[in-house]
Amino acid sequence: MAEKTLKGKIGVTTENIFPVIKQFLYSDHEIFLRELVANAVDASRKMQALASSGAFKGELGELKVCVEVDEDKKLLKISDNGIGMTAEEVDKYINQIAFSSAGEFLEKYKDQLGSIIGHFGLGFYSAFMVADKVTIDTLSWQDGAEAVKWSCDGSPEYDMKKGSRKERGTTVTLHISDDENDREFATRGRIHELLDKYCKFMPVPVVFGKKTEWKDGKSVETDEDNVINNVEPIWAKAPSELKEEDYKKFYRALYPMEEEPMFWIHLNVDYPFNLTGILYFPKIKERMAINRNRIQLYCNQMFVTDHVDNIVPDFLTLLHGVIDSPDIPLNVSRSYLQSDTNVKKISTYITKKVADRLEEIFKEQRSQLEEKWDNLKLFIEYGMISDEKFCERALNFALFKNTDGKYFSFEEYRTAIEGSQTDKDKKVVYLYASDPQGQYRNIEDAKNLGYDVLLMDCELDSHFVNLLENKLKDCRFARVDSDSPERLIPKEEEIKLELSEDDKKALDEMVKGVLPEGNDYLVEARNLGETRSALMITRSEWMRRYRDMSALGGGMNFYGELPESFNIIVNMENPLIQKIWADREGNAQLLKQLADLALLQNGMLKGKDLADFISRSEELLK
Ligand code: ADP
Repeated sequence: MAEKTLKGKIGVTTENIFPVIKQFLYSDHEIFLRELVANAVDASRKMQALASSGAFKGELGELKVCVEVDEDKKLLKISDNGIGMTAEEVDKYINQIAFSSAGEFLEKYKDQLGSIIGHFGLGFYSAFMVADKVTIDTLSWQDGAEAVKWSCDGSPEYDMKKGSRKERGTTVTLHISDDENDREFATRGRIHELLDKYCKFMPVPVVFGKKTEWKDGKSVETDEDNVINNVEPIWAKAPSELKEEDYKKFYRALYPMEEEPMFWIHLNVDYPFNLTGILYFPKIKERMAINRNRIQLYCNQMFVTDHVDNIVPDFLTLLHGVIDSPDIPLNVSRSYLQSDTNVKKISTYITKKVADRLEEIFKEQRSQLEEKWDNLKLFIEYGMISDEKFCERALNFALFKNTDGKYFSFEEYRTAIEGSQTDKDKKVVYLYASDPQGQYRNIEDAKNLGYDVLLMDCELDSHFVNLLENKLKDCRFARVDSDSPERLIPKEEEIKLELSEDDKKALDEMVKGVLPEGNDYLVEARNLGETRSALMITRSEWMRRYRDMSALGGGMNFYGELPESFNIIVNMENPLIQKIWADREGNAQLLKQLADLALLQNGMLKGKDLADFISRSEELLK
């Protein structure tokens, strides 16, 4: 190259592109560091490749990237001993390609820039988001190459001259701008934080100053490089090389505050797309208070984002861990991601892997699965409700838990209850309770009839039960308090008790008169034998389920707005009812007491009504 300084104009169409960058990329300024370190890492790996292919025969040295901050001068330096660049290369890659591709990029994605820049970045160019001036000092690996010094102060004009660099590689120096939003990038603290966020697993050592140690009560620097990254994270290793403890250790490093994970899956595929990663099933402490956005997406060990929605199916965003794939297109908007064929394949692959792993645990470690089921349940139910394919698979390994704490596969459960719980319409009736304390008596009644009762106490269960009725053939789910015990699983046509119209009306008035206002009641006279309760309050399975679903946001608000509706079963064979029926006036107090007992059993007696009930009961005991 000639001795004189070359001046040129960068080939961008926009007259001055820097203000545009600053304006658009406002919130994502910090990604410049990732871009520059990634370039330095690339240059180092290319050097490694040249050496191993034999194209480079000299001294390779210890390849590393060094990041330094000069807080006083407001300088940030990123240096590498990679391949470096010749003057021609600087001209081609920096002056022409980098700048013009940045221009094109901005032009194309102006409207959606905010959402995609975090993914893609603008490469070298993003340095200008935070710096007033950027210089490159570089010396190519090639024999006889001359050092080059390039600088640009943020206008589209650069200057390029012979440099004085002696060692192979590149140093990019940023003169951090004094803008109040950028100042922080000239502080060690902030840079350390960013290196930790974006560069923690980059494949070449990234050095940030020296290690420190405590000496005579203060922290002093040692001679040892402070390497901030782990160049070979476990997801990049073969599963056969890893032990259980390695996975746990890695989890602790990623999420120091979390409890130990339950299970994990090592993803490792290279065809038809390239993907590695480890997904963990976290222990869910408080349901619904689950941390999403705990899967980190990497591209060749470079952190991209922790928002993987649109890349993995929604229910899998409950998992934690790492996915690394160079095949996820990052230079597109989020909405486009969903329709990308590679992303679809990746998403299907991950779902399949998760299902495979769960099925394997089901087959080989059944007791472990049972032990952890209560924690896993929400995740699996959510997956089954939201993902058809996962649902088909999960029918083979999902478990039911009954109110005695026993676990069954779906198939086992069907076999167990089929004999005793098939109704007159040949439907197998799955009984369940959502609140074992509140529904204690109903559960006991059902068990005394020889039935089994499932525990369905999860937020999603009303949706889940609907799903199962579609998936499991010829069946029906009924909550234990949805009818009187005998009628939960009717075995033969019931002989209805027919009262005269007058009696019906009288009974209706009498019963409604002692129940709280504001609800709908359907009063029904039945002969249930002397020992069954006098009055029972039940809620129709359907009405209750739709109400629950609309409360969860199932789009059935119509049901949510209706008044609560209850069935009141009056057992005409109960001696107390017979007594009241014979002398209604004289036993008004007794009827009120019976109604309150029924309300109490359903947790519906509250406030003044409860206080009155207690006083009345005390009165009766005197
Ligand atoms: P990208 O990395 O996406 O290609 P950049 O704008 O970041 O885009 O960089 C443009 C080119 O400049 C790179 O492809 C590389 O050839 C060259 N380059 C950038 N930084 C370095 C570096 N530290 N060492 C060697 N070459 C580099």
